[in-house]
Amino acid sequence: MSAPRMFILLVLLTAKFAALSVAQGPAPNVVIVFADDQGYGDVGVYGAKEFRTPNLDRMASEGVRFTSFYVAAPVCTPSRAALLTGSHPVRVGLGNRVLFPYSTTGLHPNEVTVAEILRSRGYATGIVGKWHLGHHTKFLPTRQGFDTYFGIPYSNDMGNHRYARENFVAPPLPILRDEEIIEQQPDQTQLTRRYTEEAIRFIRDNKDRPFFLYLPHSMPHWPLAASERFAGHSKLGIYGDAIEELDWSVGEILKTLGELGIDRRTLVIFTSDNGATLAPWQRRGYRPGSNGPLRAGKNTTWEGGMRVPAIMRWPGRIPAGLVQDELATAMDILPTIAKLTGAEAPRGRILDGKNIWPLMSGEAGARTPHEAFHYYRDERLQAVRSGPWKLHVYRPEWGDGAGDHQALLFNLDEDIGENVDVAGANADVVTRLLALAEKAREDLGDAATGRQGRNVRPVGRL
Ligand code: MG
Repeated sequence: MSAPRMFILLVLLTAKFAALSVAQGPAPNVVIVFADDQGYGDVGVYGAKEFRTPNLDRMASEGVRFTSFYVAAPVCTPSRAALLTGSHPVRVGLGNRVLFPYSTTGLHPNEVTVAEILRSRGYATGIVGKWHLGHHTKFLPTRQGFDTYFGIPYSNDMGNHRYARENFVAPPLPILRDEEIIEQQPDQTQLTRRYTEEAIRFIRDNKDRPFFLYLPHSMPHWPLAASERFAGHSKLGIYGDAIEELDWSVGEILKTLGELGIDRRTLVIFTSDNGATLAPWQRRGYRPGSNGPLRAGKNTTWEGGMRVPAIMRWPGRIPAGLVQDELATAMDILPTIAKLTGAEAPRGRILDGKNIWPLMSGEAGARTPHEAFHYYRDERLQAVRSGPWKLHVYRPEWGDGAGDHQALLFNLDEDIGENVDVAGANADVVTRLLALAEKAREDLGDAATGRQGRNVRPVGRL
């Protein structure tokens, strides 16, 4: 072989190996901690004042913290469907409300979850906590890629609840181990502690092989509870106590990874399924959480409902103390993990998530991969964001006369609280965002304008 050809071959080989180590490296373990209804302002580093979250704060100082991270829906079920499938909840048929103990639907068995793609790569896969994607056996986590399951199948307020409209009384809140009910109406003060012990056992059992742990905590969702060690500890009352215990849980996970010497090959992600609940807490006599400077909270498409804290840590791969302001979503987690682990993303279907590793790793000049983000509630398209601009095209309070209302435009860079409507002065922006809304209606449908989506997939049915 001539010298120039040999040189070219060497360059190609070097490039190939370099590409491998950047794109794949050693495939990391993945831990996703998902809080339930913890608001944007409910972490110390995001501005919480009346309780402390030293472990989450430390996690942020050792990794990346996102300031424009969105879940795909402002309530539990659709938000979780999106996280686990990388697809919009309306696309997978779970955009409407949440699942209840009387529901006969669930995440379709043909949907491919993060657990399934990682299991295909030889990962041990475990879930500890709240599922809420269908409580009938065919919808359980063990049928969606998880080797093991310990937790509750829906929200912690649904046990023994009477649903007047459906004339249905729910059974006692079950705790499942894999597919068996092993307990009913558990003492909720012990849930966070028990989930944490289960999670740590899973990590220890699987320390010598790649693992995926999904830890969707039940707190701080109503009814709030904390164990003896935390109850009465924070200045905010039981809501703050419950979050301090969640923070302890995160600390125990990080400590375990450190003790086992695997924290440099483990990606840990912390986020929340939707914003903090505001008004209902006041009715119940509790002090609510906080969505920081964001408007409103859970159940709404104002920023407080869908923009959530998101912290990601992977020592040696994610730079310490990075603050990422670019827009990212929970739907991006599946495609990103697929990229990082060499797993194959689900084929033959539309995924809404994109690889956000460039944002997580602080790549110079990296920009959000999303031209637009769509805010849906109950299959109604309510708002669209593109760049700093957010256009509300439907507000529930407008009612049936929505067509008579002018869309509201906010510049989130200048007005994060969505206070000043600037639609009048930015007609060109309104036109551009209306076109993006129209694209979403064609694709996903929109109950507010009576549109059927072209690219929606069926919900799972009994
Ligand atoms: Mg929730």
